[in-house]
Amino acid sequence: MKKYQSIESVKQNVVICKKCNLCKDRKNAVPGKGNQSADIVFVGEAPGKNEDLLGKPFVGIAGKKLDEALENSGLTRNEIYITNIVKCKPPKNRVPNDEEKSMCNDYLENEISIINPKIICLMGNTAYHSILHGKEISKNHGRLIHKNNRMYFITFHPAAIIYNQKLGKIFNTDIKKLVNILQKLNKK
Ligand code: URA
Ligand code: SF4
Repeated sequence: MKKYQSIESVKQNVVICKKCNLCKDRKNAVPGKGNQSADIVFVGEAPGKNEDLLGKPFVGIAGKKLDEALENSGLTRNEIYITNIVKCKPPKNRVPNDEEKSMCNDYLENEISIINPKIICLMGNTAYHSILHGKEISKNHGRLIHKNNRMYFITFHPAAIIYNQKLGKIFNTDIKKLVNILQKLNKK
């Protein structure tokens, strides 16, 4: 793995990156954003239209859903760090393919190792599958998984809850549970 010294240098490399084909159609690459000493790093899938336009992660409706769930559990965006499996928008918002994910992986690895969060929250199947080879979010959401000295929390992608109130409630409950787990860790 290529090692970067800081989140700033990861970011500088992401914004000019041409390692995979996703660089061709993007307007802006979207590096991770947030608190560099965050206890929780949230990982989504890939930038969507709004993110691509602004060069910032989770600024559209999915981001709003996430913000609501965070607020509901007493956290704000300023306290967390948020990033994606791939940093450039795939055409027609298709799921990023294996090559794109593997070309982009060094950036995510560096973000996580520099920040060294207590918990990594994987949102949705792409993040869950890419990092833990997991599937079936609907069965595994709300679970805490320990692997290679890291702790992962599994939940839905906030885009999945936009038109599904029931799932929205479950997502909010998951995020509360995540924050509770963190509070317990911080008391130890
Ligand atoms: N969906 C994602 O997975 N990431 C974003 O940044 C926005 C929407
Ligand atoms: Fe580079 Fe990742 Fe964008 Fe591909 S998706 S061009 S690897 S930053």
